[in-house]
Amino acid sequence: MPIVVLPIDIPTLALSRGLVQMMLGGLLLYLGSRDEAAGAARFWALGFLLNGLSLFIFPLQIPQAWEQTRTVLNHLTLGASSVFFLLGFWTFGDQPRRIWILVLMLAIPIGSLLAWEVLWPNARLRVLCTASGQALFLLALQHSLGRAPRSEIAPICRRLRYVVIAYLLVVVWSYASIANVLPTSAQLDTGYHRSFFSVASLLFMLSLAVGCLALQFALLAARNADLAMVDWQTGLLNRRGFFNAASRNTQLRRDRDAPASVIALDIDHFKRINDEFGHAAGDRVLVTLGRCLRELATDPAYLLARMGGEEFCLVLPASGRQQASTLAEAIRARCREMPVPADDGRAIDFTISAGICETIPGQSLEHALAQADEALYFAKRNGRDQVVVSAPMSATH
Ligand code: GH3
Ligand code: MG
Ligand code: MG
Repeated sequence: MPIVVLPIDIPTLALSRGLVQMMLGGLLLYLGSRDEAAGAARFWALGFLLNGLSLFIFPLQIPQAWEQTRTVLNHLTLGASSVFFLLGFWTFGDQPRRIWILVLMLAIPIGSLLAWEVLWPNARLRVLCTASGQALFLLALQHSLGRAPRSEIAPICRRLRYVVIAYLLVVVWSYASIANVLPTSAQLDTGYHRSFFSVASLLFMLSLAVGCLALQFALLAARNADLAMVDWQTGLLNRRGFFNAASRNTQLRRDRDAPASVIALDIDHFKRINDEFGHAAGDRVLVTLGRCLRELATDPAYLLARMGGEEFCLVLPASGRQQASTLAEAIRARCREMPVPADDGRAIDFTISAGICETIPGQSLEHALAQADEALYFAKRNGRDQVVVSAPMSATH
């Protein structure tokens, strides 16, 4: 059965595509210019606006004298839009900007115009030259999409990559047909190619716009998920972040049989500090302790968390009670040396108590935490400002 292709009015389609793309550029700018991916959103928006413009001016009825200006504008806006698209993706992915690719993407249409519009006018070679610039853009784009900035975003990048590769094939096929380099059996009426290429380009640009929006929102969602795991006052993990990180910590999981140590830590008489110096001063003590923990527990494998109120917890994977005790003593000593200024100029001296537990093979983190807490309360009962190490337990606990 012969494939029936309904006639498509290419200039009208180009005009509509141009308008749609300019609107998509505006949408990206409106939705994305206020969040953290604003830099990328602005570049993408410029890419869509310029690409839309290049299409929009293509079918306009203009006097003959303006024809060449239109051709120049059409090629340059197309080249510039590719530059901005790439800049957007590089910015979004925190990737290095390869200036030579950008220069090449502008040099190709400029060179093509000089050679085939001014020096040796030849519309076919001009179009082919510009198409090679587009192919270069698509190759650079699919390369950039191969490096997602975060794992949550990788699936969107992967799908966009398929779209880019599919469109690249369409571009190569369509232009190879224009250049008569396809075998005779693969050649179709040029009208067919033009329609197919126009529709494919429309779908590509729509997919790209949806992809850019999806990337922006996925990044926003991932960053919000991060924020939900962090205590905003101290910058340490919060309780939810602590258990989440512990469950994903490969070292804790892999070394289930190797000891890890847990330090439960609590500020002494914090209620009194609040009562005497005010809640804001109490907050500053919390922030100071958070900073102290980050300065002393620098191993990136350690988990540092504020479990709630003035209670903190540290997990030291692959570390014994001796190492944990040395660290806890260092923290205790540092806190004594870190008076926090009160509003009235006085210095707030504060101390901490800590309980330590070394895990035994197969012991759950929750159980180790409870044991470290027991040691902490022993430290409290015993006069505070001290570190207590829980006695080794048998494997039956
Ligand atoms: P102990 O030495 O036995 O630990 O005594 P404590 O006073 O430190 O302990 P308690 O549990 O009795 O009081 C903790 C206080 O911490 C009560 C609560 O108002 C205060 N607190 C909890 N969260 C915050 C916070 O975010 N900021 C401030 N400023 N205070 C807080
Ligand atoms: Mg306390
Ligand atoms: Mg407490």
